[in-house]
Amino acid sequence: RFIAFEGGEGMGKSTQARMLADALEARGVSTCLTREPGGTSGAEAIRGLLLDPPGEGWTKEAEALLFAAARADHVARLIRPALEEGRWVVCDRFLDSSRAYQGAGGGLGDKTVRELHAIGSDGLLPDITLVIDAEAAEVDRRLTERDGGFSDAIGGRAAEYHASVNAAFRDFAVKEPDRFALIDGSGSMEDVHARVLHALSPLFVE
Ligand code: C5P
Repeated sequence: RFIAFEGGEGMGKSTQARMLADALEARGVSTCLTREPGGTSGAEAIRGLLLDPPGEGWTKEAEALLFAAARADHVARLIRPALEEGRWVVCDRFLDSSRAYQGAGGGLGDKTVRELHAIGSDGLLPDITLVIDAEAAEVDRRLTERDGGFSDAIGGRAAEYHASVNAAFRDFAVKEPDRFALIDGSGSMEDVHARVLHALSPLFVE
C-alpha cells in the first residue's frame, strides 16, 4: 500500500505521517516512512538545491524538472522496491504537491506536471492521498508558535501563491474523490490522527 500526505504549509502533514507510520508498525505492518522532496541521497541533494537555490534561483520550468527528477530517483530506488517487498509506504508529499505548487501556484499547469511525472516515475500514484486542510487562522497561529510566523521555504512566493496552493489541494480532493480523502486538520494532533485512521479504515479490512 502506498499512502501520501498532502497540504500547504503548517497543516501538520509531517506529524501525521509519522503518527500513521508508528500506528501501522504497532499493528505489525512493515512500513517505510519517507518524504519529498527527498527520501534518497540523490533526492535529498536535489532538495538542498531547491530549498537553497544557487545564484538567482530556478525558473519555474527548471524547478518543476528538479522536483520531478527528485521524485524519479525516490520512486525507483526507494518507493517501488519497498512496495514490491510488500511494505507499506507513507510519504510526506508526492506528485500532488507538484500539481498544487508548480502546477497551480507557479502557473505551469496540471498537464505539464503530469507529463513530467509520466516520464520520470512512470505515473506511479498512491493508493490514497490524504489532504490535510485547516483554517488559515489556525495555521497562522501554529506557524507563529513553531517558527515565529510564516516563512516560505523556497523564498519569495507571496501569500496569494500559498492561497492558490491550498485551494488547489482542496479542489483535487473534491474533484478526484476516488484517489483523495480530505482530512479536517483542526484540533489536536491526536484528533487529526483519529480522522486519518478513520479515512484509511477501508484499507485495513481488505
Ligand atoms: O514538506 P516540506 O515543508 O518539508 O517541504 C519543503 C518546502 O518545499 C515546502 O514548504 C514547500 O514550500 C516547498 N515545496 C514546493 N513544491 C513541492 C513540494 C514542496 O514548493 N512540490
